[in-house]
Amino acid sequence: MSLFDSLEKDEELYSILEKETERQRCSLELIASENFTSRAVLEANGTIFTNKYSEGYPSKRYYGGNEYIDELENLCKKRALEAFQLDPNVWDVNVQSYSGSTANFSVYTALLQPNDRLMGLDLPAGGHLTHGYYTANKKISNSSIYFQSLPYKVGDDFLIDYDGLERDAKSFKPKLIIVGASAYCRDYDYERFREIANINKSYLMADIAHTSGLVSAGLLRSPFEYCDVVTTTTHKTLRGPRSGLIFVNKKKEGGGLVSKINEAVFPGLQGGPHNHQIAAVAYQLEQVSKPEFVDYMKNVKSNAVILGESLKGYGFNLVTGGTDNHIVLVDLKSKELTGSKMELLCEMVDISLNKNCIYGDKNAMVPSGIRLGTPAMTSRGFGEKEFKMLAFFLKEIADIGMEIQNKYGKLLNDFKKGLENDQEIKGKLEDIKNGVNNIAIGFPFYTF
Ligand SMILES: *Cc1c(COP(=O)(O)O)cnc(C)c1O
Repeated sequence: MSLFDSLEKDEELYSILEKETERQRCSLELIASENFTSRAVLEANGTIFTNKYSEGYPSKRYYGGNEYIDELENLCKKRALEAFQLDPNVWDVNVQSYSGSTANFSVYTALLQPNDRLMGLDLPAGGHLTHGYYTANKKISNSSIYFQSLPYKVGDDFLIDYDGLERDAKSFKPKLIIVGASAYCRDYDYERFREIANINKSYLMADIAHTSGLVSAGLLRSPFEYCDVVTTTTHKTLRGPRSGLIFVNKKKEGGGLVSKINEAVFPGLQGGPHNHQIAAVAYQLEQVSKPEFVDYMKNVKSNAVILGESLKGYGFNLVTGGTDNHIVLVDLKSKELTGSKMELLCEMVDISLNKNCIYGDKNAMVPSGIRLGTPAMTSRGFGEKEFKMLAFFLKEIADIGMEIQNKYGKLLNDFKKGLENDQEIKGKLEDIKNGVNNIAIGFPFYTF
């Protein structure tokens, strides 16, 4: 039985759904922020909880009929604290954020006044847009438009420049320091962040959107000991539906932080909670507390090491030489290929990955690396053998990229012309694509 029987009559929509299902089933998903959630999460996300308005919080709603919605939200909160082994006397959690970015913006408006100062990791160094990103020409993220932002960076070793952060924080005096990233493959020295925050009386927030699954499984350091607030998405390593969580330390400001955060989420930024989403998050957080999920996370981590080491064996350079988490950052300069060309070639053979800036890139529009992640394919059942094969595919693809450049030149237009017109190269890519598709369909996808 399909989850989507009643959709079939809408042929236009259904055909798009079918095409996307086939795309996901047949391709190799290496985008580090993506995952394959379970059928149970899809079902929970499709429940009648979506019908209910419940502005407010459990027992304090602006609408009637919320007896069971209160139960649902309280269950989700309890499971969120359990998933991260948090003492309910010390931590509270808001489960209403629609996603990671809105969770972050809610925290900023809770802790800061307009034009107050914050510091986050620079986007080209691996930070997230919502951590205050702006360019020389334009303030890009609302977190840099409505607040004053000064980024900290990584050093020549591609690790966070804690000394630089300490120096700049002393003069900039941020009210908030954010730790966390989207393209950083090493763990954080939360204690050092706390020291720097204390010197300047700054709040410290961790955004563990990418790594929360690994944190919950105890495979990365925990930010909770040091931070005032911790945010995360629920759809990356946590493998749940798309949503956001905000954990708040109850001991800070005599418990005052909790009401500040809650008011910032509603009525500050959002309206009615997405209760179907909260149901799906609640389901997944129960799974996260189980030993099977810890095993999954261990596999994600060991697969990232295997993928990285195999790539090194083929002459690829890894940023920082390896990884502590689920992300492998590859610097393609040694292969004289750009991230954009590699992404384009991989897309042609049904491998999804992201081009990625390598810190120090002269032109952010020509990123010289790629970001790979193991959570999604590990969910499909990939292990050591398959990730080694994946590394081999990536090597073959990079070789083809270099061959095209040698024959047709490095300019993207010449490169694309070569790609379109060279039958031999087209044949090679076609062979790889067939290999990719054959492997992918051999691993379980949803059995609709
Ligand atoms: C993905 C991500 C977010 C944003 O999450 P969305 O759900 O896409 O809004 C925020 N912070 C970090 C570090 C992320 O990686």
